[in-house]
Amino acid sequence: MDTPIRGLVYDIRSFSVNDGPGIRKTVFLKGCPLRCSWCHNPESFNFNPERWNRDEKTGLFTITKPEIIGKYYTADEIVEEVVKDIPFFEQSSGGITLSGGEPLSQAEFAFQILLKSKEYGIHTCVDTSGFATWQDVEKVAPVTDLFLYDLKLADNDLHKKYTGNDNRIIIENLMKLRFLKSELHIRIPLVEGITDTPENLEGLKRIIEKLPGLKRIDLLPYHTIARMKYRRLNLPYNLEEMPEYPLDKAEKILQSFSSAADMVTVGG
Ligand code: SF4
Repeated sequence: MDTPIRGLVYDIRSFSVNDGPGIRKTVFLKGCPLRCSWCHNPESFNFNPERWNRDEKTGLFTITKPEIIGKYYTADEIVEEVVKDIPFFEQSSGGITLSGGEPLSQAEFAFQILLKSKEYGIHTCVDTSGFATWQDVEKVAPVTDLFLYDLKLADNDLHKKYTGNDNRIIIENLMKLRFLKSELHIRIPLVEGITDTPENLEGLKRIIEKLPGLKRIDLLPYHTIARMKYRRLNLPYNLEEMPEYPLDKAEKILQSFSSAADMVTVGG
């Protein structure tokens, strides 16, 4: 008998409401080929389990406890967890979302989880940066009802500067993905002076124009809650001084994208 493939996961969250429609179980796969300056999940970067120290309050005292981030699971073990939430999925038209990190970096593991979830009739969603081989995108697409697809920076040099990697493969995959049957939503992080410049927003609109019938765009304002995580991981954080993204600015950007999709939201 074949040994089942195991994948590295750093969190499994029930009752997520911002990772696709309805109430979702979000499974966070560990490892990402990008290094977005604003990433709020730096514990997802590394493709191996790692350790950090977590502060825990007990009455008057705070104690520091070491914690391992990342655990190997089989797809069956993940799906066993996911099916427990089927009653909530049924009530809310929810389902499972694979997030990360970059879930397509563990494409075979992702495929098996999605395939087994579909066998239970569960709605499936993949939250991806699009930085993956086309073979990996094509592999998971038949068992993915919805892709939440990030678009960050239209200019390739800026993309390299702020994410550490090229955007060409991301745009190429997006242009091919529009012909497959999975639904597609675009997600745009709003980071002041980086992704929200008029040039970048116009550049992103030009890409989105090539996706006729796009159902939804989510604008995701930058928030500061990840700072503590960078400290715990001893990683430099280039946006230490960056404030939370102003919501009035996000609302204005929303207006400017209103004709680009059936629905445009701030916050997802
Ligand atoms: S693609 Fe996502 S998980 Fe990876 S670094 Fe960027 S924001 Fe973080």
